[in-house]
Amino acid sequence: MKKGVFCLSLDTELLWGRHDGNWRLFEKNALRVRPVIKKLLQLFKKYKIPATWAIVGHLFLRNDTLPGWYASDVVKAIKQVDGQEIGSHSFFHTRFGSTPCTKERAEIEIRECVRLAKKENIKLESFVFPYNSVRHLDILKKYGFICFRGDDQYSTRSPLKKIQLLVDLFMPTGSPVYVPKQTNGLIEIPGSFYFLSARGFRRYIPKNVRFRKAKRGIDRAVAEKKIFHMWTHPIDLTIQSEDLLDDIEQILAYACELRKEGVLSIHNMRQIAKQYS
Ligand SMILES: [Zn+2]
Repeated sequence: MKKGVFCLSLDTELLWGRHDGNWRLFEKNALRVRPVIKKLLQLFKKYKIPATWAIVGHLFLRNDTLPGWYASDVVKAIKQVDGQEIGSHSFFHTRFGSTPCTKERAEIEIRECVRLAKKENIKLESFVFPYNSVRHLDILKKYGFICFRGDDQYSTRSPLKKIQLLVDLFMPTGSPVYVPKQTNGLIEIPGSFYFLSARGFRRYIPKNVRFRKAKRGIDRAVAEKKIFHMWTHPIDLTIQSEDLLDDIEQILAYACELRKEGVLSIHNMRQIAKQYS
């Protein structure tokens, strides 16, 4: 790679991320997500940031009486902003790596997402696995996907590593950076940094720490000519919205500055896959 890359992907799922659990607790947040998405799109326009929106397939459908579950209006709004890529985050937000998710089930999900996107003239090429649970890559390839977000340090099962990660949330430390790699005929772009919500204990993460962590990750990407891949959920930004969106704006402004200096590129997942395949 000739220079560092900043990549941003957004797991856009509204209540689907909780459909098999405590979704009622998140209903209020889901209803606050549209203004957050509008603000993100304004920031992406202002700083010319191409991002990847990994959308749960159900959101392509329209049902005005269930705005926490259906969001064809959101898909339309994203499409209108230059450089935004619409990718997929499965149809039901299913854990692909789990035993009940057979190959047949995975294929039904992917086929349905591709069909609904096609009706909107959208070609799905990037995939983000729910829970970053990677499996059935052959099906993605069969349906025209070219890349996926790889698993990251946050899915560890080691109790010690979990404690380390918990402590790390409060420190302005950096994150790993990567080069894209070929995995089963697809380009894998691992996640570097999960921009966390302010839910529960996370509300105690001081303002600015998320920005400082991302800044160090971006600096590392520039120094090592690798990718710093940040990801989040729009619904994560519905609590302490102003502070979190301010941190995001600082990150985008910083990346933009380095792009102007010629040491950093800002690409969405599809752009990276096309460039590095
Ligand atoms: Zn998800």
